[in-house]
This record gives sequence, structure tokens and C-alpha cells, in this order.
Amino acid sequence: MAEFTMELNDEQKEVRDWLHGFAADVIRPAAAEWDEREETPWPVIQEAAKVGIYSLDFYAQQYFDSTGLGIPMAMEELFWGDAGIALSIVGTGLAAVGVLANGTEEQIGTWIPQMYGDVNDVKVAAFCSSEPDAGSDVASMRTRAVYDEAKDEWVLNGTKTWATNGGIANVHVVVAVVDAELGSKGHASFIIPPNTPGLSQGQKFKKHGIRASHTAEVVLENVRVPGSCLLGGKEKLDERLARARERAKQGGERVKNAAMATFEASRPAVGAMAVGTARAAYEVALDYAKTREQFGRPIIDNQGVAFQLADMRTSIDAARLLVWRASWMAINGKPFTAAEGSMSKLFASETAKKVTAQAVQILGGNGYTREYPVERMHRDAAIYTIFEGTSEIQRLVIARTLSGMPIR
Ligand SMILES: Cc1cc2nc3c(=O)[nH]c(=O)nc-3n(C[C@H](O)[C@H](O)[C@H](O)COP(=O)(O)OP(=O)(O)OC[C@H]3O[C@@H](n4cnc5c(N)ncnc54)[C@H](O)[C@@H]3O)c2cc1C
Repeated sequence: MAEFTMELNDEQKEVRDWLHGFAADVIRPAAAEWDEREETPWPVIQEAAKVGIYSLDFYAQQYFDSTGLGIPMAMEELFWGDAGIALSIVGTGLAAVGVLANGTEEQIGTWIPQMYGDVNDVKVAAFCSSEPDAGSDVASMRTRAVYDEAKDEWVLNGTKTWATNGGIANVHVVVAVVDAELGSKGHASFIIPPNTPGLSQGQKFKKHGIRASHTAEVVLENVRVPGSCLLGGKEKLDERLARARERAKQGGERVKNAAMATFEASRPAVGAMAVGTARAAYEVALDYAKTREQFGRPIIDNQGVAFQLADMRTSIDAARLLVWRASWMAINGKPFTAAEGSMSKLFASETAKKVTAQAVQILGGNGYTREYPVERMHRDAAIYTIFEGTSEIQRLVIARTLSGMPIR
């Protein structure tokens, strides 16, 4: 286990500064334009690919940093640049993690390179779980995958929604029901290869924030994929389903959800994105408060403004510490006995919402216009309390973990 320290090591600082440079020089200057265009910023993704930020290798390197701080540090810097563009850069990772977590070595080797493409032809990938009637309540998912044994093919039907990169992805990872009796235990994940007939993009959403990130419905109509596209393979699925049926028959024991542990480990990364946006807005507000003069002095001379900045910075630092703790726990295999991953996501995302609103207030009328970036950051920040589990769901998870009670 890595020795505990509150400081980044030299190598981490070097990576952080390099990412910060990319965020400051490439992402931030492009932010307003792509927010207005509400389109995927392909040229910026390509730039990220050129310098080595858009690849599985880069994220794997950060992930395997033995302190656990590689991923949160990277997320904070990229999202400090701009949340919408950064999500376009890291969104593919969500699908890639789905394959890494459940796929065979062959599936990982075949599909992950196709998710990213190459420098001259960058691609994106999408992870499609949410449905119109299954958001927080994942167990009520309706998309079905039925096995056609004669052809060794799976046939998928259903509608997915809110998919980041949905419809424009080269590779889609789709979660579907294979055994409706088993609730979320009866779900499995499938690769939908490029240009598979039957998969189409439905509505593209016009959003409040992170508008440079494409979000759309994905419609699946008799989508046929080879048996090899079932992540993990049929044998493993059959074993897993048999175990779940056995437990269901025994009736009593609430099945511990392995997915919960995965969420605890992945939620700090979303917390780190929120810290990045909050820090960006705080920095703009601090500069502004020091230079804007009213009543013959900088507005920061008023405690009413200075104390807001003090609170903003305190919350941001507290959020980062929760994120770092949970990330450190994840890499060191510590059990999340108090749902520390959910705690970090809850606190950091609520902090981002609050801090960006305070930043708008400190900039006064200018904060309310698109001439200054805090207006965009405030819109962007609202996503953090919604996706990857809403704040209410985080509280539910924390409360259930603490109490052991099935709180509703
Ligand atoms: C921009 C964006 C990108 C996204 N990207 C993806 C993606 O790539 N892939 C993907 O699969 N999904 C994605 N999502 C979906 C996202 O994860 C869901 O929106 C989220 O899980 C909430 O589901 P919902 O929108 O259906 O809200 P609902 O579940 O309908 O919730 C509505 C409200 O009710 C509250 N609520 C619900 N249940 C409870 C309860 N038991 N107790 C208390 N309060 C409750 C919620 O907290 C929320 O405030 C994305 C969403 C957005 C907006």
C-alpha cells in the first residue's frame, strides 16, 4: 500500500501541469464556441489524441497510479478547462470501463481501440443504460436482449436515453435485460459494433449546460449482434444467472450488488469533475473581486464578498479531500463502509452548484452574461447532481450503508 501523503509526487505534479497546460491553452479558449454550437468538438478531441490525452493508455496509466490520485487529478484539470469539452474527451471512457470491467481479454483488445479510433480518425463510444422509464430506478429497465441459439446471435430491442455520445459513437455498449425475473441481476452488457443495422439515434437533447457534449436517445430495433458481443461471454452469464436464481429461490438474503462497489469506486471521478468546474469559477470570481471597484475600493474589501470567497475555497478543498480519500480507498481495496465514494460525489457536486452560483453573484451583471465564463460554468455545474446517480440517490446509498436499513 502506498504511504499516505497529502502531497502529489513529482511525477503527478508533472502530469497535472501538462494537463493544466492543455486545459488552459486548448480547451478553455474553445469553450464558449462549442457551448454555443452545441456540437461535439471533434477538432479538440483530435488535439487531445495528438498529445496523448485521448487514449485508453493514458487513462489506464492514471488509473494504476498506486495512490489513486491519477484519475481525480486528470479529471479536475480537464474539467477546469471546460466541462462540456472535457466530457466529450472523457465520455468514451465510460463505455471503455464497461468493457474493461466485464469483458474478456479478446473483447477488450478488439473493441477498445475502435472506441477511440486513431489520431487521424478519432472516434467516440457511448455507454447506454438509462431509459425513459428507468433513470434512478435501473431495475425497471425494459430493453430486452434475446438469445437466438440457432444463429448464436443476440437480438436487442428497446429505447435508451440520455446517452453521452449516443448515436454518434463508433461503438455502443448497451445494458439490456436477459432475465426479467431477476431485476438488475438479470441485466447484461452488449457491444454494438460500428454500423450495426437497427441501431439509430433518436432525439438529440438541447441542454442547459455541458452543451459541447452530445446527449441523445438510442433506439434499438431488432439489433442483431454475434454471441461474441455479450460482454464476459455466455458461459459466465449463465453461471451468474444460475447463482442469482438460486439466491432468489432461497428467498431471504438480499443479494449484495457488486455494481454498488463499482459505483463507489467510480463516483469520486465525477466528484473530481465537479471540483474542476467549481475551482474554475472560484478563480474567475477571486480575480474579479480583486479588480472590480465600487464605492472607491475593490469589492473584495467588503467582508460580504470576501467571506463568500473564503467559503467557496473551503468547500472546494473539502470536496477535493473527500474525492482523494475515496479514490485512495478504491485503489487500495478498502471497503466503503460509509459509502465514501457516494459521499465524495454528493459533496463535490453540490459544492460545484453552489460555488458557481456564488461566482455569478460576485461578478454581478457581468456574471449573468456570456461575456464571462461563470455563466457557462454555472449551467454546466447543474449536471453533477444529476448524472451518475442524483444527489438524492447518493444520500439514499449513504443512509442505507450507514444504517443497514432499506430506507425508501
Ligand atoms: C447530460 C446527461 C448525460 C448522461 N449520460 C448518460 C450516459 O452516458 N449513459 C447513461 O446510461 N445515462 C446517462 N445519463 C442519465 C443519468 O444518469 C440519469 O439522468 C440519472 O440517473 C437520473 O435519472 P432520471 O433523469 O430518469 O431521473 P429520475 O430517476 O426520474 O429522478 C427524478 C428526480 O427524482 C428523484 N428521485 C428518484 N428516485 C428517488 C428516490 N428513491 N428517493 C428520492 N429521490 C428520488 C431524483 O433524485 C431526481 O431528483 C445522462 C444524463 C444527462 C442529463
